[in-house]
Amino acid sequence: MKAFGESLALANEQLKILNDNSTTFPHFDDKYKLTGEDALTAGKVEILQVNVGKMCNQVCKHCHVDAGPDRKEIMTKETMQYCLDVLQKTAIAKVDLTGGAPEMNPNFKWFVDEIKKLDRHVMVRSNLTILQANGFEDYADFMAKHNVEIISSLPYYKASFTDKQRGDGVFDKSIAAIKKLNELGYGKDNTALTLDLVYNPVGAFLPPSQHQLEQDYKRELLRNFGIVFNNLYTITNMPISRFLDYLIESGNYESYMQKLIDSFNPSAALNVMCKFTLSVGWDGALFDCDFNQMLEMNLNHGAPNHIRDFDITKLEQRRIITGQHCYGCTAGAGSSCGGATA
Ligand code: SF4
Ligand code: SF4
Repeated sequence: MKAFGESLALANEQLKILNDNSTTFPHFDDKYKLTGEDALTAGKVEILQVNVGKMCNQVCKHCHVDAGPDRKEIMTKETMQYCLDVLQKTAIAKVDLTGGAPEMNPNFKWFVDEIKKLDRHVMVRSNLTILQANGFEDYADFMAKHNVEIISSLPYYKASFTDKQRGDGVFDKSIAAIKKLNELGYGKDNTALTLDLVYNPVGAFLPPSQHQLEQDYKRELLRNFGIVFNNLYTITNMPISRFLDYLIESGNYESYMQKLIDSFNPSAALNVMCKFTLSVGWDGALFDCDFNQMLEMNLNHGAPNHIRDFDITKLEQRRIITGQHCYGCTAGAGSSCGGATA
């Protein structure tokens, strides 16, 4: 959207729609009180989720980052070093690398190496096709050698739905990449190399049961392609960025929001990922989650908002900055980077 100069590429244009008072949608903060808590507040930071850049070799229709080959935002080595300093000073156990395609950051391997030297678990949100792109052929081996957990979107176990959302030919390339990862030991029960897949709906509806869908994926992918993986995460499409654009263009915005609100689940809301995850933008700015990052909703309420000013005590007591998009995390079985939350 940014490349085409579309107004919805701007965070404040998206927020204008989400906060439009002419609608009758209840404010998320009021609904959240159904959990029994007064306000959404963070606890112990268990995961540092780092967006190392918006550049990507794909241009998926639902991408909440609006990522693509034309995006130039990239995390510098200096900002990565701030992240490493934070890890050294804290007991944060996991680092979740996102993008764009995280592998496209020129310092990706160095960063993973340094995090592993600090003995932290590394997760990489790989889009799979990058592992077969020119110049990236050895990245799968690199990740296996460093025991990196790989989490990859595969919107469906059939080519047509996946290609519709992620682009022509993406499904076949993804299957080929999973085959290679399986050969390296990923996705198998008897190795420590974890490969998780992510489902998200190809349209304006909520995901089905994570458990049931995982069984379907495992059966179909094994039967049709001989490939295996560990866990399936179902993720609800957030009404922001390219998916918001789709909702408006297709006339589904109001009904989708109403569906999310009607499906508000207090148990899912109590486990939203912002309670235990802190998100770092490509430029080092801090956010409650990747979605707030894309909406440029910076931390406030007295919490430091840049990685260089990291203060674990303040961050672990911070009030989370919420908005109407938070309904996307709390509908039905809930949604997070680790799948359902209820
Ligand atoms: S692969 Fe991921 S980051 Fe890249 S365009 Fe698709 S959804 Fe966005
Ligand atoms: S959108 Fe972000 S801030 Fe809102 S509930 Fe989800 S994770 Fe938390």
